[in-house]
Amino acid sequence: MTGTSARPVRSLEELVGRTPTMEVQLPGVPDGVRLLAKLEMFNPLFNVKDRAVLFMLREAERTGLLPARGGTVIECSSGSTGISLAAMCAVRGHRCIIVMPDNATAERRQILRELGAETVLVPHEEGLLAAWKFAEGLHRETPGSWLPHQDRNPANVLAHYETTGPEIWEACAGRVDVFVCGVGTGGTLTGVARYLKERGDVHVVAVEPERSAVLSGGEAGPHGIPGLGAGYVSEITDLGVIDEVVTVPDLTAATTRQEITLATGLLAGVSSGAAAHACRVLSRRGRWAGSTIVTVFPDTGERYLSLASEAPEQLTSPSSAPRS
Ligand code: PMP
Repeated sequence: MTGTSARPVRSLEELVGRTPTMEVQLPGVPDGVRLLAKLEMFNPLFNVKDRAVLFMLREAERTGLLPARGGTVIECSSGSTGISLAAMCAVRGHRCIIVMPDNATAERRQILRELGAETVLVPHEEGLLAAWKFAEGLHRETPGSWLPHQDRNPANVLAHYETTGPEIWEACAGRVDVFVCGVGTGGTLTGVARYLKERGDVHVVAVEPERSAVLSGGEAGPHGIPGLGAGYVSEITDLGVIDEVVTVPDLTAATTRQEITLATGLLAGVSSGAAAHACRVLSRRGRWAGSTIVTVFPDTGERYLSLASEAPEQLTSPSSAPRS
């Protein structure tokens, strides 16, 4: 588990991964079904994105896209990817520029500033694709810069295939019947599901916001589950590993998030509530009586506290989505 090794760690990177897995007693899950959650808020920047960012950075350095120190990294993100990148760039002495919609929460902007990143705000009304275009333009104009492009970058998937997946398999001693996972870039779901399906007969369930249910064939739309439902299917999402998609209403994600907090004492993020609710839906089906259902809680709820009083529509839209 993170941070418990006997010797002192020498870098932030050593703190990434090896997160704990917890048995969660969620109200409404029938007796006999074991619900396990991988607690990604135990990563150093409190988010699953630390894994993907570390793998993307290392791959860029290995292939010469980025020098070991003193490079420039540009990414479009209003959420956790930006924060993880900023932290790892600070340690490595890279300049970090995060292009983000101007409705990103104040605490996120402040964290990025604390970590020494520069932020470029783009009007959220112009949409996520406009923000990406801006980042791509900045990348072209900045010689030697590197743009990770998390939703196209295979290292995002590899991080979960090589770390999250094996950690889950080990924690469950090879007993995983159902894997339930929220989809932002699709990196977590694709990497973990590929690993688990190579080892056993695992039913894989993708989770997306009811109001932006593109994996289910619906329309993209504004919704209140930050980190999920970017409004399009990313290049790295492998639809072939998904056996089923469960959609979750905003309010259900929010209320389940609080149920998790009261059941575990851990402040999980809203997308953890969405994932846990999907687990509950599955757990009630006779097919999964006595089964082990595993999910990922991607982050801490502390970064969403300022949103609690806002209307769900103000949280996330496909055009301004914190795609983490
Ligand atoms: N939930 C939250 C809060 C996230 O930040 C992310 C990452 N975007 C996810 C879920 C989904 O992760 P992924 O991008 O790997 O699909």
